[in-house]
Amino acid sequence: MQTTINPQTILKKYFGFDQFRPLQEEIIAGVVNQKDSLVLMPTGGGKSVCFQLPAIMLPHLTLVISPLIALMKDQVEALKANGIQADFLNSTMDENDQEILIQNVRNGEVKLLYLSPEKLLTLIPFIKSNIKISLIAIDEAHCISQWGHDFRPEYTKLGLLKETWPEIPIIALTATADKITRKDIVKQLSLEDPKIYVASFDRPNLSLSVRFGIKKKKKLEEIAAFIHAKKDESGIIYCLSRKSTEEMAEEMKGFGISAEFYHAGMTANERNKVQDNFINDRTKVICATIAFGMGIDKSNVRFVIHNNLPKNMEGYYQEIGRAGRDGLPSDALLYYSIGDVVMLRNFIEDSGQKELNHEKLNRMQQYAETPICRRIILLAYFGETLEHACNNCDVCKQPRKTFDGTLLAQKALSALARTNEKIGVNVLIDILRGSHRKEIIENGYNTIKTFGAGKEYSFHDWQKYILQMLNLGLIEIAYDENFNLKITSFGKELLFENKKIALVHSDDLEKFEAKKKRELNLDDTKDLEAELFDYLRGIRRGLAEKENVPAYVIFSDATLQDLSKNKPVQLSDLLKIGGMGEYKIKKYGNTFIKEIKQWLKQNDVKTPKVDTYSETFKLLQEGYGIEEISQTRQMHETTIYSHIAHLYTKNQLENLDAYINDAEYKLVKAAVKETGEKKQLTPLHTYLNEEIPFHVIRLCLAKLNKEEEEN
Ligand code: ADP
Ligand code: ZN
Repeated sequence: MQTTINPQTILKKYFGFDQFRPLQEEIIAGVVNQKDSLVLMPTGGGKSVCFQLPAIMLPHLTLVISPLIALMKDQVEALKANGIQADFLNSTMDENDQEILIQNVRNGEVKLLYLSPEKLLTLIPFIKSNIKISLIAIDEAHCISQWGHDFRPEYTKLGLLKETWPEIPIIALTATADKITRKDIVKQLSLEDPKIYVASFDRPNLSLSVRFGIKKKKKLEEIAAFIHAKKDESGIIYCLSRKSTEEMAEEMKGFGISAEFYHAGMTANERNKVQDNFINDRTKVICATIAFGMGIDKSNVRFVIHNNLPKNMEGYYQEIGRAGRDGLPSDALLYYSIGDVVMLRNFIEDSGQKELNHEKLNRMQQYAETPICRRIILLAYFGETLEHACNNCDVCKQPRKTFDGTLLAQKALSALARTNEKIGVNVLIDILRGSHRKEIIENGYNTIKTFGAGKEYSFHDWQKYILQMLNLGLIEIAYDENFNLKITSFGKELLFENKKIALVHSDDLEKFEAKKKRELNLDDTKDLEAELFDYLRGIRRGLAEKENVPAYVIFSDATLQDLSKNKPVQLSDLLKIGGMGEYKIKKYGNTFIKEIKQWLKQNDVKTPKVDTYSETFKLLQEGYGIEEISQTRQMHETTIYSHIAHLYTKNQLENLDAYINDAEYKLVKAAVKETGEKKQLTPLHTYLNEEIPFHVIRLCLAKLNKEEEEN
C-alpha cells in the first residue's frame, strides 16, 4: 500500500518539508528501486531523509547501523515524534526489553530499527530466520575504512551483510570520505554496482582563514577581539586537550565573554547543561574538544575557531561544518603554529598507521600554508573541483601572482600516465628531470617520452609545483598503493582537453614564504620592540623631570629605538648603541641596563648571562679607565681591580704594566718573602708602611703567583 504514496507527499507528511534538498530525491528513487548506493553529503546536508523516507515506503523493516549509540535515542525519538515507527537496540538493554522489542519488530510494528554494528553482528542469524527486511542503511560508513579518519574495527565485519542478504539493497552514508575511503567502503561492503552520490561539499557561506605562528597572549587577544566583534552571535573554539578547553574558557571569561567548556571528561549531566545553554543562546562560546558538536543541530553557529592545527582535513572539514548551517555568512578561523605540528607528529608516532597519519597531517599543513585558494584545496581533498578561486578565504583576499602552468602540469601528468600511475613524487620528479638513477633506468623510465622534459626546473621547484597540482585537484595520492600519484578526472581534462591552470611561480612562492616568515618574525619582534620603546620612554620622562630638562636631552628617540632593538643587558653592549657617548653611559647606562633587564624578565624574554669580568674587560678594551669603569658600573674601584687581577690570571690581560710599576712589584715581592703571606692584603699593607695601595698589592700578588707558576 505504502509504496503507492509518492516521496514528495511523504516528505511533507512525515517530515514537514516542502522540497527535497539537492540529490535527496534521486537517492530515494534509487533506494526504492533496490539499488545499492553510497551517499556522500556534508554534515547537515540531509542524509537521514535518504533512508528514513524509503523506510516508510518499503514494505518491511529497515535496519540502520550507526556507531553513535548516544545519538540513536534522539533520532528514534525524533522519528516517533513525526509518527514514524522506529526503535533502537543496544547492548545496554536488558533481555526483557529486547524480547518485547523483537516481538514488535516481528509483528511489523517497527519500520526502522537502529543498532550498533556489534549488536547487529550477534543478531544476524536471528534476523535472517525471523524477520523480513527491506533495506539496510549504514550511517557513518567511513568507519569501515582504515583510510578514513575514524576507523572502527567492528565495522569491517559488515561485509557479512551482503553475504547474508544478497538481494537487499544497502545504502551507505558518510559526511567525510576521500576517494580512497569511498572505494574502500564499496569494496568492503561488497556493494553491487552502487550508485555513488556526491553532494557538493562546498559551503560558500563559510569564510576560511588561517593565522600562523601567533604568540599565545596575542592569539588570545585576537580571538577575544574577533568574538567581541560578533555581537549577539555564538560559536565554538576547538582545543586539543581537555585542560586547554578549560583554560580557554577561563581566558575568554577574563575578556568578558560568556564562555563554557565541554569535554568528554565531564559527566553526561554537565555536558547536557553546557550544550543546552549553547543551543538556547545562553552561552556565547563553547571551548571544546572535538567531541563537541556531533549531536547538536544548532544552525546559527556563526564561527568556529581552531586553537590548534587539526590532525587531518576530514576532521577539520567536519568541525568547521558546524558553523553556518543556516547558509548565512560564518567564519572558520584556524590558528596554527609549528608547535602544533611537533605535538601532532609526536602523537602520530605513538599511534597505529603512522605513515598514513603523517601523510594526512602533511595535507592539513599544506592547506594551512597554501599560496592558492583554500577552498580549492579543501574541495580537491574531497575529490571536488572548484575551478575558480573563491574570494571568500584569506588567500583569495590577498592573491599571489600566477602564471599559465598548463604546459608544466601537462608534462607531469603525461609522465604519470606513461608510467601507468605507478610512481610517487620522487620518481616522477626524477623522470621529469632526466635522472639516471638506478631505479629509473631499471624500470625503463628513461625511455618514456617525457623523460627529461622538465630539466629546466630544480628538484625543489618541481616539489612545489607538484604540491600545487595536488592542491588544485589534478592529482591525488593513493594511500592504499604505496602513496603513488593518480591522475584525477580534472587532471585528465587538463591533459586531453582544452583546460588551463594557473600556478604560483616557485620563486614567488619562495619569496612569499620568506616574506611571510620575515613578517612574522618582524611582527613579533616589532611588537616587543615597540613595547620596550614605550617602557623606556617612560623611564626617560622620569629622568627628564628629575633633571628638569627636555626628554630628548637625555636620549633621542633614535637612541631609545636602538636600545629597544638591541636590548643591551650589559654596559659594554651600550657602546654599540647610537647616541650613547661615554658620558651618557656613565650617567644613565646603569639605570637603563637595569630597566631593560627587568622588562625582559617580566616579558619572559631570555637574556644572556652577564659575565662581570668580561664586562670589565670589554670596557677596558674600549679605553675606559678604572675610575670610569667603577663609576659606570657603580662598583668599587677595588672590585674593578680584582676583576683585572682575575683577567690577568686567566691570561685575558697580557700584563699589568698599566697598573703597577717595577718598583712596587719588587717591594711587594720582598714583603711576601719576609712575611710569608701570599693571600691576605692587610699584613702586607701594614708591613709596607701603608705606602702601597691595596689594589696594587693585589695586582702584584697576581703577577707573583703567575711567575711562580711559570717557573
Ligand atoms: P546529516 O545526517 O546529513 O548531517 P540530517 O539528516 O540530520 O543531516 O539533516 C540536517 C538538517 O536538515 C535536519 O534538521 C533535517 O531535518 C533538515 N533537512 C533534511 N532534509 C531537508 C529538506 N528536504 N528540507 C528542509 N530541511 C531538511
Ligand atoms: Zn579562496
